[in-house]
Amino acid sequence: MTSTTPVNPSRPATIGGVPGAPRTSRAAELADRAVGGLHNAPIELKAPFTGLTTATLPQATEHEVRAAFERAREAQRAWARRPVRERARVLRHLHDLVLDKQAEALDLIQIEAGKSRLDAFDEISATALVAAYYGKHGPGILAPRRVAGVLPLLTKAGQLHHPKGVVGVISPWNYPLALTAMDVLPALLAGNTVVQKPDNQTALSALWLHELACAAGLPPQAWQIVLGRGSQIGDALVEEPDYVCFTGSTPTGKRLAGRIAQRLTGYSLELGGKNPMLVLPDADVSKAAAGAVAACFSSAGQLCVSVERIYVHDSIAEEFIAAFARRTEALRLGGTLDYGTDMGSLTSTGQLRAVSAHVDDARAQGATVVTGGKARPDIGPLFYEPTILTGVPETARVFAEETFGPVVSVYRYSNVDDAVERANDTEFGLNASVWSRDGKRGWEIAARLRAGTVNVNEGYAATFGTVGLPMGGMKESGVGRRNGAEGLLKYTESQSIAVQRGMRLRPFPGMPPRIWTTLMTLGMRLLARLPRR
Ligand code: NAP
Repeated sequence: MTSTTPVNPSRPATIGGVPGAPRTSRAAELADRAVGGLHNAPIELKAPFTGLTTATLPQATEHEVRAAFERAREAQRAWARRPVRERARVLRHLHDLVLDKQAEALDLIQIEAGKSRLDAFDEISATALVAAYYGKHGPGILAPRRVAGVLPLLTKAGQLHHPKGVVGVISPWNYPLALTAMDVLPALLAGNTVVQKPDNQTALSALWLHELACAAGLPPQAWQIVLGRGSQIGDALVEEPDYVCFTGSTPTGKRLAGRIAQRLTGYSLELGGKNPMLVLPDADVSKAAAGAVAACFSSAGQLCVSVERIYVHDSIAEEFIAAFARRTEALRLGGTLDYGTDMGSLTSTGQLRAVSAHVDDARAQGATVVTGGKARPDIGPLFYEPTILTGVPETARVFAEETFGPVVSVYRYSNVDDAVERANDTEFGLNASVWSRDGKRGWEIAARLRAGTVNVNEGYAATFGTVGLPMGGMKESGVGRRNGAEGLLKYTESQSIAVQRGMRLRPFPGMPPRIWTTLMTLGMRLLARLPRR
């Protein structure tokens, strides 16, 4: 069904010619876990570091995707019947396996996505944190909830959370392991089964996690992975599921949402951003500059919560820009499977084109390139230097459009209210960052920013790593949230049950309605004054 092409058959095979990578046979083994692929031609994947073939992947037909949903529907009944504590145990076991076997996943993520190893490790930690959080807290969040009934002692009321059924998960290429875990694991814990379509470019990472989840006790049919272009199998992915969790760009999310809504099926959308960072006049400049490097250039800026706009107060602007540029120029670019580099490559030629176009357009419109601003084919086909721009005019594309690459524009301000207004002046609202020595002041400014997550004295990692906090976008950055209780309960149907005892909620036989309504009015006044109701 699948095969791989050794880069150089005369030497031990590596994946995509990346030195130190696992053998290609391992890639084939993982690719074989994907559903279908009997009729469509497989596709070849290229490693961003080298441009060489990593693996060939089966491509499912629409019919095969629909059949996967059918199997998932059958498997769902048995999976949902298992006690939630048993499902949680699978997640806790998976947590341990992910940490134990991280070396292989680090290789795969680097090879498929072109990240530095440290950036790949962010995905290991996010995956482990999510598995641990839901493995530990999930059963409590899903537990039946008692609520005070309308008539004290006489109305017993409670809420249950039932699984939706089969969840469709559509994932992008930029955080292939972490986003798979963040979206698939809570759906499974809630008693759903899942059919996931990862991006072809980074499918092996999702398949790796699938293998580990099965080793941790998940029935293989409970989570099925289908591969193929959205344009070919997208219909089945929006028509079959009982809930759709989509992560990707705002235009695709909007298109799919319109179609999903036609079926009155629930969905969550995790979309794009143009995330601002505010450096307040009292910020520690050195820490803010170091923080900006991580916030802007982790995963080469191909991170939905990455910072692309920095607003820095006039009084410290020069010092900040100099420190930020110095630290940026010290970053080591490279494509080796070790911790010896700081920033990897872009993931696709499309990304390289998009990033180059934004920088070239800004430059042509008069922006200053403080550092970076060019591709680095001498390192690898898709490398681009981390880039800082100043003097970006409002007409430049990079001013308001998401670049999704290692490019940030720095703007000055003299008044904090003005900076807050400019930070909020965007169609997006995903993530923001505030830097101040005064934590209380930072919190106050954070609360004024229209973004789903705001990090004070951090770029994104503080909220990203706190799995108990919901994560998602305001405005065009999304609908719904992942993580926290919301990220689990979205995969459930809420059911309210009330058992009425003794007396009905209507007048007693023969009682004049006026007396009934007077008694009820008095009762409501009393109940409203009771504590904890
Ligand atoms: P994209 O082009 O929207 O694609 C996302 C996923 O949707 C891919 O797997 C894609 O597969 C699939 N897809 C596209 N059209 C489809 C259709 N008609 N039916 C079903 N699936 C379809 O986005 P991307 O370029 O891969 O990802 C980058 C974007 O994602 C950025 O805007 C980034 O900000 C955003 N993002 C957001 C978050 C968040 O949490 N908010 C996280 C990560 C990324 P094919 O391309 O193969 O069709």
